[in-house]
Amino acid sequence: MKRLSKLFTFVIIPEANQSVKRFTVSGYILVIVPSAIALLAICAAIFISLFSGSAAKLAHLQARLDLSQSGYEKSLQFKNDRIAALEADLTTLSAQADQIENKISEIAELESQLKEIVGIQSTDVHISSANNIPLSEGGQGGEEFSLMQSAEASSLANRTGQEFDLLASLMDELKPSLEATKSAILKHQQLLDITPTIWPSDNRKITSTFGVRRDPISGRSAVHNGLDIGGNRGDPIYAAADGVVTLSERTYPQGNNILIDHGRGIETRYLHLNARHVEVGDKVHKGQLIGELGNTGRSTGPHLHYEVIVNGTHVDPTPYIQEDREERE
Ligand SMILES: [Zn+2]
Repeated sequence: MKRLSKLFTFVIIPEANQSVKRFTVSGYILVIVPSAIALLAICAAIFISLFSGSAAKLAHLQARLDLSQSGYEKSLQFKNDRIAALEADLTTLSAQADQIENKISEIAELESQLKEIVGIQSTDVHISSANNIPLSEGGQGGEEFSLMQSAEASSLANRTGQEFDLLASLMDELKPSLEATKSAILKHQQLLDITPTIWPSDNRKITSTFGVRRDPISGRSAVHNGLDIGGNRGDPIYAAADGVVTLSERTYPQGNNILIDHGRGIETRYLHLNARHVEVGDKVHKGQLIGELGNTGRSTGPHLHYEVIVNGTHVDPTPYIQEDREERE
């Protein structure tokens, strides 16, 4: 250190005839300047080395980035395609749901008609719109919408579509069946309308049954070809079924009497009436007022003699009387 603190003098002799130049520098300068130059050179070397290494790494990273971006874009495109396909599936399902909804509406309408025919009180059928089907509880995809979930969703959509097709075909089968039931019920109803199944009077007291009995006037055994139903003079008498009046007359021993032809060989006759309210040729409906209970003809007191005739033969009216007139109204 002691040497460095000394001064060093440098002599420069340019040419022989020129004067000598000299200058003096400190020993420190002589050490610091070369050291600084050497340090700078080392730094430059390190920097160049580092920079060239980083540039290579940067290029490598850029290449990897490009590669993953390309992969990402492909994946994104694939997912977009899947989403589009699923949306198309859902659109198809929605259309199928609408078709089924329409078919259910038709069936509900048929059901309503059936109920009306048989007198069942109609209940409102609520058909939920396909758009209102609630989502199932459970996991739902978020940002991480994997390809497997997409495949499962697609499979589910296909299965649902098949179920919809099955439902639609079942309903297609059901509709003609319901139509047939409706026709059968209508036929049954028409048959019921022309069958004398109701009481011809409000009074239900049978004073004499059908069959062999002791005649109330002669006292001898005789065939009683109808039912005698008690009541008061003027009580309403009703047509036991739909039909056409074929007799409305006053004769003996029948008194005021009415005969109604119900078709299919079935007739009903009402005897000893106080009054007749229908004429021959009149079309009457089941339960319609046709006359009044009376005591005309060969009769011991006010009553209705009621006959049911099948293919010209008198039969016991009792099995025909199955329901109350009021129940039909
Ligand atoms: Zn009688």
